Formats: sequence, structure tokens, C-alpha cells
Amino acid sequence: MSILTDTIEKIVTANRILAKEEVVDGFGHVSMRHPSDPERYLLSRSRSPELVESADILEYTLDGACIDDRGGMKPYAERFIHGAIYKARPDVTSVVHHHAYPVVTFSTTKTPIRPLMHTTAVIGHDIPLWDIRDKFGPNTNLLVTNMDQGGDLAKKLANNRMVMMRGHGATAAGTTIEDAVISSIYLQIAARQQLDALTIGGEVTYLSKGEIDGQIDPEVTSFVFPRIWEYFSRRAGR
Ligand SMILES: [Zn+2]
Repeated sequence: MSILTDTIEKIVTANRILAKEEVVDGFGHVSMRHPSDPERYLLSRSRSPELVESADILEYTLDGACIDDRGGMKPYAERFIHGAIYKARPDVTSVVHHHAYPVVTFSTTKTPIRPLMHTTAVIGHDIPLWDIRDKFGPNTNLLVTNMDQGGDLAKKLANNRMVMMRGHGATAAGTTIEDAVISSIYLQIAARQQLDALTIGGEVTYLSKGEIDGQIDPEVTSFVFPRIWEYFSRRAGR
């Protein structure tokens, strides 16, 4: 299998996993930087993640222009999220954008999502909250539909693992596709657990900085991610 074919198959698997784990519904998307050209990325045409197949994966410039448009396939309106992050972050090779419901709930509050279970430490220490209203006013449709908005989102992401988007969703920036997908799945789990813990009441004990560092250490993730990726892949029928 060529590197490009392997990359495309991984993107299809990532789409199916995110759908199976209900991080995405009919919306949301996942991309990978092109394996042989860092100035391009690979992303499905506008299609629900559960239905994405290898023939749907198209190549884009970092500015969001489709360079292998086959028969007028429609791109995602929010593809600019991906290119803007690849431009700003040379270390990022995969981006996941989703509207996971419990995550969106948190995005409307001043309470940040924090990990309270060891496996959810992959969401990282601080998750910045981007509000499209701050720069683009109160009359947008909340979607990131141009490079100006994508660049502003990437600026808020900075060097973090992910960024929340007020009233909209979240975007994860991974060093690998496994990293971006697994972190997105655990962000939703972390949000649900935190909601449960806050409902019980009293003081919640979150992971310490050192406990999070211990889990996101590449020595640990390089061992854990392949195992959990295989599990999620099998659940998704891949
Ligand atoms: Zn969106």
C-alpha cells in the first residue's frame, strides 16, 4: 500500500470512529496533512463522517482550494479550520473538528473542561475558548467559513492540544491522526464525567498537572494509542 493510499484509508477509519463514538453526528470532519507535501492536506468532500469512503477524500491547499476536484464534489464549508491550523502549527499532522454535544454545553459557560480520570488526560492542561463574536461580531452563523476566521481560531489554539468554540464545538490538533481522534473522543468523555461530578456536588478532584504530564508523555501515548486505536477501529467496523 502506498503512503498516500494508507493515509486516505486512515482518514476514512478516523471518520468512522468519530461517528461510531458519537463525537460527530451528520457534521464534523477530520483531515491529515499530505504525507509528501506539507503545504497540502487531505479531507473528505462535504459528507457525513459515517458515510465517508476513500473516493471522497480530496486534496486541498492550505488556503482551502481543492486541487483535485473530481466532478464538482462540494467541499466542507468549514475546511478553513484545517488549513489555518496546518499553517500556524508545523508540528500538527491531523485536525479533528466536531460539535460533540456535552462539549458545546461547556463552551457556553465559564467552566473549563478538566480531566478527572487518567485516560482523559489526553485533552491536555488548558483548553482555550474561542468566541467568534469577539472579532467577527454577533451576526455570523458561528461557522468558520474563511481563512481570516480560521487564522483567528488557530491563534487562540496557540500551542495547545485543542480549542473550544463557543456555542459551536471544538477542534483538536494532533501530532498524529490517532492523537487528534483519541483526544477528541476523550474530550467528550471528560465533559460528561465533569457534568456528572458537578451534579453530585461538593468539591471535584481533578488530575494534577503532574498526573496529566504523566499521561501525555510520548513514551506513554506511543504505547497506549495503538492499542486503543485498534479497539476503536474494530468497533467502527474497520
Ligand atoms: Zn463546525
